[in-house]
Amino acid sequence: MSQKVDKQHIWHPLTQHQSHPEHIVIKKAKGAILYDENGNEYIDAIASWYTCMYGHCNPYITQKVSEQMRNLDHVVFTGFTHKPATDLATSLMKILPQNQQKIFFSDNGSTSVDIALKMSLQYYFNQGLKRNKIIAFQDGFHGDTFGAMSVSGLSIYNGPFEDHFLDVDRIAVPNKSNIEKVKKHFITLLSKNNVAAFIYEPLVQGAAAMKMHDADLLNQLLEIAKKFNVITIADEVMTGFGKTGKNFASEYLIELPDIICLSKSLTGGLVPMAITSCSDKIYQAFLSSEMEKGFFHGHTYSANPTSCTAAIASIELLMSKEIQNSIDRIKTAHKSFLENINNHPKVKSTRQQGIIAAVDLNIETDRYGDLRYKLFDFYMEKGVYLRPLGNTVYILAPFIISNEQLTKIYKAIEDSLEII
Ligand SMILES: *Cc1c(COP(=O)(O)O)cnc(C)c1O
Repeated sequence: MSQKVDKQHIWHPLTQHQSHPEHIVIKKAKGAILYDENGNEYIDAIASWYTCMYGHCNPYITQKVSEQMRNLDHVVFTGFTHKPATDLATSLMKILPQNQQKIFFSDNGSTSVDIALKMSLQYYFNQGLKRNKIIAFQDGFHGDTFGAMSVSGLSIYNGPFEDHFLDVDRIAVPNKSNIEKVKKHFITLLSKNNVAAFIYEPLVQGAAAMKMHDADLLNQLLEIAKKFNVITIADEVMTGFGKTGKNFASEYLIELPDIICLSKSLTGGLVPMAITSCSDKIYQAFLSSEMEKGFFHGHTYSANPTSCTAAIASIELLMSKEIQNSIDRIKTAHKSFLENINNHPKVKSTRQQGIIAAVDLNIETDRYGDLRYKLFDFYMEKGVYLRPLGNTVYILAPFIISNEQLTKIYKAIEDSLEII
């Protein structure tokens, strides 16, 4: 395939094309392995941005989807419904936190967040209350559309657009030493009674390089949010579906979110889809004899039947004994790897939540500094696809990864300590 055509006509996401090297052509993917056009193999140690958790081209999911495509490909979801959508709602109801009642469909993580924000703002608008502000964590990431970008704190991406953002205040992520200060700041902001929602990535902030915080500390903030009648939005786009060791990170918390955003790995990586689920309390505020109090948001491919089918099959796999055992196996393997590497002089610290493992290297660097390219190339040469962020190397491999493949990832990370 022609890298020339790629260079001529394709604009890649999150890429500075002036300095970026040629893109590697991936020809095929199976299980945990990516194959390039030159016959090289790479272990997909980040499951292609945490999507292909049941393995690439999973035979069970692809089989179900191929049957579905022959029967009902797509139909407008306003005025019509279909079994893939209702079956998916049924499967989700079985595993989502028990206060979740309604499923709203869209196409990607960012839109699932925008929908959550619009639901929150309109929830108060419909009741004649003026609550325009959103609170989010510093360093959070929620996506690249305007609403999602507004609540994201990783500002290197946001510069040109900041004048057009939603009204957002940020609070620090709590840790044991700052918790009282964060709570005080949070209460000060909430006391103005103009806050509609608090959005957070529960337990693990993915794009911030897998930063982790304690469930107990987040829970204290959620308790406060509830007291001030503020809608809580759990952005589980990254943490959803088993990665933190439970189906959803929100299950580690006592306070349940009013709204949950889901996308990555919802369909096992096969096709795009996102979901914003909410409690009945939210939904009720949109019921009215006045038409305009309904939620007038929709996407052409809402509840696409093939995507729904991929999601149903993925959830079936997630709930299987095989995948649940695998989650335990990976958790244990990560734990001993991190314990081993933690004492290395080039390692600053390590952390783990479920099957997410992160190693902070003992070296100063920018988020997109030279180090990450050097490490990236090193890992690729060893046949492992990892995407370091700043001085953090993290693993979020598919659930089906073998012990042998895990060992290869660990070895590549260990060896990379010698080149920094
Ligand atoms: C990736 C991500 C998003 C955005 O999802 P897209 O599908 O890339 O739009 C939102 N929130 C979190 C926590 C994410 O990890």
